[in-house]
This record gives sequence, structure tokens and C-alpha cells, in this order.
Amino acid sequence: MKPVYLDNNATTRVAPEVLSAMLPFLSEQYGNPSSMHSFGGAVGGHLREARARVARGLSCDPSEIIFTSCGTESDNAAIRSALESQPEKRHIVTTRVEHPAVLSLCQHLETKGYEVTSLGVDEEGRLDLEELEKSLRKDTAIVSVMYANNETGVVFPLPEIAGIVKSRGVLLHTDAVQAVGKLPIDLSKLPVDFLALSGHKLHAPKGVGVLYVRKGTPFRPFLVGGHQEHGRRAGTENTASIVALGRAVELATERIGEENTRVRAQRDRLERGLLEAVPDSRINGGGAERLPNTLSIAFKYVEGEAILLLMDRFGICASSGSACTSGSLEPSHVLRAMGVPFTFAHGSIRFSLSRYTTDADVDLVLKELPPIIARLRQLSPFSGKEGEAAAFCSTHSH
Ligand code: PLP
Repeated sequence: MKPVYLDNNATTRVAPEVLSAMLPFLSEQYGNPSSMHSFGGAVGGHLREARARVARGLSCDPSEIIFTSCGTESDNAAIRSALESQPEKRHIVTTRVEHPAVLSLCQHLETKGYEVTSLGVDEEGRLDLEELEKSLRKDTAIVSVMYANNETGVVFPLPEIAGIVKSRGVLLHTDAVQAVGKLPIDLSKLPVDFLALSGHKLHAPKGVGVLYVRKGTPFRPFLVGGHQEHGRRAGTENTASIVALGRAVELATERIGEENTRVRAQRDRLERGLLEAVPDSRINGGGAERLPNTLSIAFKYVEGEAILLLMDRFGICASSGSACTSGSLEPSHVLRAMGVPFTFAHGSIRFSLSRYTTDADVDLVLKELPPIIARLRQLSPFSGKEGEAAAFCSTHSH
């Protein structure tokens, strides 16, 4: 069965144009770009071109682009660099809705004696900028704030955030893994010091990312070894994937306007259709600015995992808003931070669309999902059934 793939915030399909750009570097053009011979040197030329393409897509200088292995590495490298380059500063500001790439690192750093302020969000997932301003201190080493949330698609007002943080002379990192390719990004106007992106969220392969470091920002490498990436990230370059990422950013930049219009219309149709067809449903973050491709919808009195399993029978791929750990159904940290009521948080499903989403995909969900919810509600009117749902979840998922 061909999947109806609506889980593009988890990962995306490699674009055919991207695949054909990278294939030569997995076959004939296998040289090492650091080699002295022209065979390797030729590959170096393609890396330079890929770097230039990414830089054009972000409106920055190619020298500000460091290729990494993933978004997680880029986030880690930015935050750790800020701490290492300012050893006297031991305070970090972040938010409660970050991806674990930032959240878990900050928790780890707390165990090493750093102090972390985690800003909360309101019921729509929005930050309070006054609270952000108040959280900044003389010893704040870095503020790390995501651009767009992977679960809800809620977009933080990065230009305003940058205005506040930079006016206080504090380093600013943004995890833009979900934003790049979905929101236009112009680093000549957006004064962040670091920005992380990940190839596999924008139709490049898994295992390649970028850390943007603004010129003049002190930088301490995360990986130490050879001189690759001008000594800022050691390790022989993942040439094929870097070339792929260059092409993927180029495609995304060319098409962003047209794709966003189409994807937003599909997302809105899905959202309206589900809200109309399913009583007791609501949108997580619906009142905030959101990515055009993301729909986090909560269905009262049902379990997200059960919905996913039943949708899977129709080949529909999506995500739920809870994490099944040790047999307990814990709504995600993002939904908890937003204060989404318990009965809704458990029945939260994330649909994330892409340039490959078809109208027929949306039609299929609109046809199959409402009866699935109705059936689950019949089977389990929830009250008194939470224990059963948790047991179901622990045996069926992850
Ligand atoms: N940050 C955000 C917001 C993400 O959504 C993800 C991936 O889901 C990451 C970071 C991690 O990226 P990667 O999978 O490339 O390590």
C-alpha cells in the first residue's frame, strides 16, 4: 500500500532532483575534498557550490555555513560553543517547548552547574516577550529559542525576540529545523548569532545539517580533529549529502511561495473538515501564527495511539501528541506547557504536509478519520478507561 504520508515534520521524502544531484558523489565522484589531487579537488568545488546555495537560501555569507551531521548536532554545537567561549557566563535562557535536541542538552547542562531559565508559553503556545526580557541577566551566555514548533507548528516572533536579546548583547541561537523551507528566512535582516537546520526536514537525506554562525561570533568547535569546515567541524565531509542539501535548499527557496499557498490550502481544508465532522475537537495552537503545513488537532476522550493504529490500516502516517513511557500515557511536554486539558492532550494527532501531499490524501483522511474517532468513542467513552488505554499503549507502541 502506498503510504498517505502526512508526517513530514518527522522526516521528508528525498526530492527526485535532490537524489539525482547527490548520486554521482556516491559513485564516480568519491574523492576526498581535502586531497591535493584534482580528483578530490573537483569534489571540493561541489561542496563550495553547495555552501553557496545554502547561503543564498538564507541570505548570508557562505563562510557562515558549517555543515554538520544533523539538527541535533547543530543545536548542541551552538549552545556548547557559547558556553565555552564565555566561561564566566553560566546562565542559559530557553523555552519549555523546545525539541529534545535543546531541552535535554539544557537539562544535562543543569547537572553540570549551569542555570537554565525555561520560559513558559500561553494556551496557544506563544511566548511572553516581557518575560523573556526580564529573564536576561549579566551572566546569560545564550538564549536558545526555536523558530517553529515541531508539534504544533507555532511560530515564535524571531525578529522581535532578536531585537530584545541583541539589544542586551546576549548571544542568540535559533533552532530553525522546522522553519527552513517553510518560512522565508533572511539572515541579512534577522540578527541571530546561530541557526540550526536539518536536511531531512526539507527533502534532503537524513544525516546532514547546517549550523549558521554569524561572522564575528566567537566559536569553539564541537568536534575537534582535522581541518574540515575551516577547523570549525572536524570529520571528512558527507559530500553526497552536503551536495543534496545545497540542492534541497535551492529548490525550497525557489518554490516556497507557491508551495506554501498550496500546502496551506490543503492543511486548512483538512482542519476545517475535521473540526466540522468531529464534535469535541480543537486545534492546538490554532490561535497563534503557525507553519502552513502543520495541523495539531485534539479529539476529546480518545487515545492518540489508538487513532494512529487505526489510521495505519489505511496507510495514513501521522504522529500523536503523547509519549508512551513506562506504561503511562504522558502528553507531550509541548502540550503540557500549553496547558492543553488532559482529556484533549491524549487525543492529539499531528498531521504535517509537504509539497508531495495530494488533494486525494486530504480526502482520504477526511473520509476515514471521523468514523475512526466515532468508533473509538463508542468503544471507550473514556471515563474509567484511562488504565485500559495506558495498558493498550504500552503494549502497542514504540
Ligand atoms: N529541532 C527540531 C525543532 C526538530 O523538529 C528536530 C527533529 O525532529 C530536531 C531539532 C533534530 O533534528 P535532527 O533529526 O536532524 O537531529
